[in-house]
Amino acid sequence: MKITRVRAFQVDLPLHEGSYKWSGGKSVDVFDSTVVEITTDSGLTGFGEVCPLGPFYLPAFGGGARAGLKELAPQIIGQSPIYLDQLNRHMDRCLKGHPYVKSGIDMACWDLLGKATKQPVCTLLGGRYGEDFVLYRAISQQAPDAMASNVAGYRAQGYRRFQLKVGGDPDVDIERIRQVAAEIQPGEKLVADANTGWTQHEAARVVRAVADVDVYIEQPCETYEECLTIRKRITHPFVLDENIDSFAMLQRGYSDGAMDVVNLKISKLGGITRLRQARDYCVSMGIAMTIEDSWGGDIITAAIAHLAHSTPTEMLFTSTDFNSYVTVSIAAGAPQRNGGRLSASEQPGLGVEPRMDVLGQPVLDVS
Ligand code: MG
Repeated sequence: MKITRVRAFQVDLPLHEGSYKWSGGKSVDVFDSTVVEITTDSGLTGFGEVCPLGPFYLPAFGGGARAGLKELAPQIIGQSPIYLDQLNRHMDRCLKGHPYVKSGIDMACWDLLGKATKQPVCTLLGGRYGEDFVLYRAISQQAPDAMASNVAGYRAQGYRRFQLKVGGDPDVDIERIRQVAAEIQPGEKLVADANTGWTQHEAARVVRAVADVDVYIEQPCETYEECLTIRKRITHPFVLDENIDSFAMLQRGYSDGAMDVVNLKISKLGGITRLRQARDYCVSMGIAMTIEDSWGGDIITAAIAHLAHSTPTEMLFTSTDFNSYVTVSIAAGAPQRNGGRLSASEQPGLGVEPRMDVLGQPVLDVS
């Protein structure tokens, strides 16, 4: 099987809540997503998606994804889409870095591998654990009382794990954590994700002020070294996210005892192939994971579900159903949240059928 054509589509994904806000006053109203379609000489077609969290979260942005695809698409024509390790090595030779650019291609090729073998991607990644897996709900940054009052609504939707967006003014963040923690019920879990927003001394103040609160602390500061310093002085369970952007950083974090949980995002690592490698390492080493992406619609949500559902239950801390946050459906067949939980499709490949009328005309067409 050989790749004969690559097309890309740009799609806007507005939010049910109007906007999503996190540390440092950053926010996004409409997500800029790119869908990748890969056609082969076998007649099979695969789909992937890449959707950065705006241009200021990771070194990635929507226009960059499409510019990178324009560069890379001609290089993968004629390659096998189902020899995924070889394909990823080829992409790395053709384009240094830019893992998010490769993510949509890699995802589309996993879809093709599943269709070619008539197996769901979840099976190809090791097989599903249980009936479904657990999700968290991100609580967009607002005033402390507004964030606390949002917990009940999300609980009514079935969520039992809540990720609080902090990383703002330390005094307000202390209130955010305290007021939301007061709403948390037995069996639920609370994460305070600062998204690199605190300086080291601010992080030190916040974590000391909430020392008695049962809360996970995620990515308090910008650099790995700052986070490691905070990690060593607190007793809260600790999560790293933005700093763990490669297998080498994951290995370093493990060696330093820098985290109890790591957040693995598909596009941050460069696709399903790279996330699988990191996931399997974490399982071997006893590091629990949040498995998700930076953002996305139905196709990314489907890919997340295949990865999360094939991860041992006790090692999967949480995952995300991004397609429930956005107002536009870009594919039929995507998994839908049920009681705060999700399950991977049992159809071949990713199990999604893109809505071509929603995707519109391609912005890139290389054959
Ligand atoms: Mg995070």
